Amino acid sequence: MSRRDELASNLAAVQARIKNPAVTLIVVTKTYPVSDVKILSELGVKDFGENRNEEGLTKSAEVNARWHYQGEIQSRKLRDIAGWADVVHSLDTASHIAKLATVTSKPLDIFLQLSLDGDPSRGGVIESELPALADIAQASQHLHLAGLMCVPPVAADPRRAFTEIAAAHRRFISKYPDATSLSAGMSGDFEIAIDCGATHIRVGSSILGSRTTR
Ligand SMILES: *Cc1c(COP(=O)(O)O)cnc(C)c1O
Repeated sequence: MSRRDELASNLAAVQARIKNPAVTLIVVTKTYPVSDVKILSELGVKDFGENRNEEGLTKSAEVNARWHYQGEIQSRKLRDIAGWADVVHSLDTASHIAKLATVTSKPLDIFLQLSLDGDPSRGGVIESELPALADIAQASQHLHLAGLMCVPPVAADPRRAFTEIAAAHRRFISKYPDATSLSAGMSGDFEIAIDCGATHIRVGSSILGSRTTR
């Protein structure tokens, strides 16, 4: 099978499992070459996600799409990220949001990363810390607070975790009514995430194959 056939068949299989047509599929192309991104773009994929600035920078220069950044954020990379990304999913630090607002020259959609258990190694803030971050985003003309992003704790039961995430998101929307998006769900759990209310799913290995790193 050619790589094109393989990607086409994997993509179709994932799309068939997305029962809600309103859900945005972000294909996470991290570690895979730009040739794969080009094929997927030709197959109709409009949204791509990357975890590293350098990879996003080079791939986005070659493929016109809506580019998402969902990796760990380093302050000194924010200006670069704001240059190529259209959407940033992994914001969890007040100073990063404030800096992003000053370095971006175009409107950016942002998601605040929620952590259910506060595990610092996985990123995100606990629910009670979200408003302080949201208020910084709201004060910026360039940042549009799209919603929340969350990766469930490693050992969590996915349905329970996504149900909790969705409840936290509903409470968040009651204070920030425009923040209606919920970025949750990856290859292993996206159907459950959609069931629980995810509007954006980030899928890599189900489409591109399993990665040896990251
Ligand atoms: C790598 C990654 C994904 C995609 O994961 P798969 O399991 O390959 O679908 C989604 N979200 C984040 C934050 C990631 O780091």
